[in-house]
Amino acid sequence: MSQTKTGSHAAATLEKTPAGDLLDTTGHTSGADWLARYSTSLMGVFGTPQRVLVRGAGCLVWDADGKEYLDLLGGIAVNALGHAHPFVTSVISSQLATLGHVSNFFTSPTQIALAEKLLALTHAPAGSKVFFTNSGTEANEAAFKLARRNGASPDGTTGKRTKIIALEGAFHGRTMGALALTAKEAYRAPFEPLPGGVVHIPFGDVAALEAAIDETVAAVFLEPIQGEAGVRPLPPGYLKAAREATTKAGALLILDEVQTGIGRTGKWLATEDAGIVPDAVTLAKGLGGGFPIGALLTFGEQTSSLLTAGQHGTTFGGNPVATAAALATLHAIESQRVLENVAAVGDYLRAGLAAVDGVTEVRGEGLLIGFDLDAAVAPAVVTAGLDAGFIVNSPGPHTIRLAPPLVLTKDQAGTFLAALPAILQTAKDAQ
Ligand SMILES: *Cc1c(COP(=O)(O)O)cnc(C)c1O
Repeated sequence: MSQTKTGSHAAATLEKTPAGDLLDTTGHTSGADWLARYSTSLMGVFGTPQRVLVRGAGCLVWDADGKEYLDLLGGIAVNALGHAHPFVTSVISSQLATLGHVSNFFTSPTQIALAEKLLALTHAPAGSKVFFTNSGTEANEAAFKLARRNGASPDGTTGKRTKIIALEGAFHGRTMGALALTAKEAYRAPFEPLPGGVVHIPFGDVAALEAAIDETVAAVFLEPIQGEAGVRPLPPGYLKAAREATTKAGALLILDEVQTGIGRTGKWLATEDAGIVPDAVTLAKGLGGGFPIGALLTFGEQTSSLLTAGQHGTTFGGNPVATAAALATLHAIESQRVLENVAAVGDYLRAGLAAVDGVTEVRGEGLLIGFDLDAAVAPAVVTAGLDAGFIVNSPGPHTIRLAPPLVLTKDQAGTFLAALPAILQTAKDAQ
């Protein structure tokens, strides 16, 4: 042992600190007490959290008061394999115990292997590249900077295309560039001025898109299914028309698959069968199976060389632990045939929801599902759902969104379908 006296003393002290105490998984503090402490120490941007969650396993989570929930939101489309997945947990632990962080002055095997894996899964053409981030908004920031380089001279003084097109209802994130792409006025207005040049055009309207595109447009940003807007899929043919119009004008077609990617729709990318090759795709939410990681994929040599050495960067992005988490997640999705489960359970859920009294429309693909109600009671449904042991989300007053772990079973989905009529009634009675 070559430890110094102080070193071994520190180690001995740490050994006397049970991890359970530090992480407070002991269950001695009630949810109400935690929330009182929350409100005095955490910034109020999220309002009051619905519950204090202390533990998860698969599609179930437990709160500080010991109540169990079926998690039909999956951390907002993040926990692809559910909570505390043994394989993902072991890969993350093993990588952290080997090499946790190195900065992008260095690389690591997991980073390279993950980039290769993502390019293979998305059938990216030769010359395609990956830039890793820690979140969805950062992936879109990188894509925004990529768009700013479209057509520009190396020093950026000439040829710059100033306009970027996004859709009404779009959600691309909360940092300034991604916020400029996001349509919702309540999110944007307090923070103006935002990076300029972004124009929002009517959702799913091919004629509006064709009218807006010209040689000043750097890029068009699209979500294949608008998640935050209530799970709204682009109409059939829209992506193809967008590809044709962008190609003609020399604009980039950038697909935000932060929510729809990594198996969420039963395919690796929601746009896999759309018959188009985009210029770039952003990913995040499900990619790390719950561990924070995002990515910008640039398709083809030309787009991949728009950002050159020194033009973008990140300290944490693509670190060994995050990339190991994603490698483990992708491997588990593949080897456990999870995509087949997504398609089957998604179809079962949608059919079941459509048959429930009070449900007026069901949208989405795979396990990204939105359904509308015949009354503006969606927030009350969230509350009644929690009381009944189900976690769901309301992106709008009439709309409920489900984005459960991709490993949700038919039986688990069935318990929600069986409970939903009573949950809707409770919500309506509470109005
Ligand atoms: C969640 C989301 C983002 C933002 O991701 P963060 O990780 O929250 O920054 C961007 N685009 C879409 C489509 C999303 O669903």
